[in-house]
Amino acid sequence: RSIIQLDAIRKVFTTDEVETHALSDIHLEIQEGEFISIAGPSGCGKSTLLSILGLLDTPTHGRYTLNGKPVAGLNLSERARIRNHEIGFIFQSFNLIGDLTVYENVELPLVYRGLPLGERRTRVMEALEEVGMSHRSKHLPSQLSGGQQQRVAVARAVGGRPSILLADEPTGNLDSTNGDAVMDLLKELHRRGSTICMVTHDQRFAQHADRTIHLFDGRVVEESFAKA
Ligand code: ADP
Ligand code: ADP
Repeated sequence: RSIIQLDAIRKVFTTDEVETHALSDIHLEIQEGEFISIAGPSGCGKSTLLSILGLLDTPTHGRYTLNGKPVAGLNLSERARIRNHEIGFIFQSFNLIGDLTVYENVELPLVYRGLPLGERRTRVMEALEEVGMSHRSKHLPSQLSGGQQQRVAVARAVGGRPSILLADEPTGNLDSTNGDAVMDLLKELHRRGSTICMVTHDQRFAQHADRTIHLFDGRVVEESFAKA
């Protein structure tokens, strides 16, 4: 089953009458359960692509279909609703809220969704269990290491049971030990059925994915597959 389909996607930024072609003619299909990585040098369009996939930005041309539904034509609140239900984000800088506890951080998107207290509690504890952070639920982010903070961010992303996890350089702010631990966690989530699309410029991490899309200058220049 196809979760995401991009057809002839282009993104042009215009600043002071100068056009930047951030993405040109991108075709991409992501199947349920796939683990995809998007690789390429700085400025090649990785973040732009992830922003479009996550409904944070809109393409200039082309068609985006998410779970069989065209994304074009959705209004802002419909986009926010789909983002909240279908997409789990993991950022390079964790993006936890500093004055909320671990528990409250993971709970917040579920509050936005209007889930009742009991359901929220079950999901938060399940998600924290899944990332091995349930013993830290009352801590503040500042009391955790970077690797632990990223595991909490992963719990926040999976707590909403999204169709797809979008991870933007999830290991970018971590040393290699913590980076490896977060990669192992993503691989475990994938093994249990999660669909993941991860941006990384680190070849060492890209090779953990089933398939790597190599971007250069806004175009797909190569597609490589994991050795079985
Ligand atoms: P990457 O994530 O691979 O480093 P980006 O997607 O951030 O690349 O950027 C792709 C290209 O689009 C770059 O040339 C960048 O300068 C340009 N770009 C990205 N965002 C904007 C923006 N908001 N306005 C103008 N140009 C942008
Ligand atoms: P709006 O632009 O309508 O005010 P927001 O910017 O508050 O909406 O939220 C946009 C989307 O991001 C929504 O789906 C919301 O649930 C989600 N969101 C906002 N803040 C957070 C957060 N701290 N953690 C997780 N999800 C969030």
